[in-house]
Amino acid sequence: MQALLENQSLKEQIAQQTQLMQLLTHQLATPLTALGGSISLLAEPELETAHQQEFLTVVQQQVSRLKRLLQDLMALRNLETGALATHHTGLCLSTLVREVLADLQTTQVTCVFSPELPLVWGDRWQVSQVLVNLLSNAIKYSPKDAPVELGAEVHQAGWVNVWVRDHGLGIPAADQPHLFERFYRVQHRDRSTIKGTGLGLSLCKLLVENQGGQLHVESTHGEGSCFSFTLSIARC
Ligand code: ADP
Repeated sequence: MQALLENQSLKEQIAQQTQLMQLLTHQLATPLTALGGSISLLAEPELETAHQQEFLTVVQQQVSRLKRLLQDLMALRNLETGALATHHTGLCLSTLVREVLADLQTTQVTCVFSPELPLVWGDRWQVSQVLVNLLSNAIKYSPKDAPVELGAEVHQAGWVNVWVRDHGLGIPAADQPHLFERFYRVQHRDRSTIKGTGLGLSLCKLLVENQGGQLHVESTHGEGSCFSFTLSIARC
């Protein structure tokens, strides 16, 4: 019986690894194909300067995409193996959000923080990664210049709730239970041209849980989404 169970568990592990390899191959193939194509075109001796610039931009975009994929995969692996260095401190959310918004170079986001918000307990880099991912998604899956709201308030004794609300594409109900799975992407024609790796939300979930909090989603397809997470109040 024991041998049977071990065999079953081994089969499941192999199936998971195979699925992961297939997804990874797909994630690598797309940017590499675009890179290969642009580099061949750049090698054309009589290429006009305008086209040269266009292909160089593609090369830069695809290299950034591969870098992001690698960074996310490394962070995921380090979280799962317990190797991600975590330094919890008291964080001022409004300062952190100001820094994140400056990095994202966006004016699309309005902040609504309740007054006298207490310091929260978390790792600076990890909490900022969660904010970057949720804000980038809210912008990416919304029409150009549609408003995005970021808010924070004391939720219940000892906890702060942080939310990112958009009025974009929203998420079909059938996809919502799978959003936090690695490499999961919604397959719907309303977003077929929007690029991504399907890693951002799985990473956010693990990062939030690494701070002791929880990540939630509420969304209506065609109307918008609200992602929210909890962080504990710092006891200083
Ligand atoms: P990626 O954006 O790289 O595909 P994520 O893990 O960040 O991967 O998101 C998984 C899927 O969830 C996306 O493919 C997208 O369809 C959907 N999604 C995430 N955030 C939003 C949002 N704010 N609005 C609509 N859809 C979203």
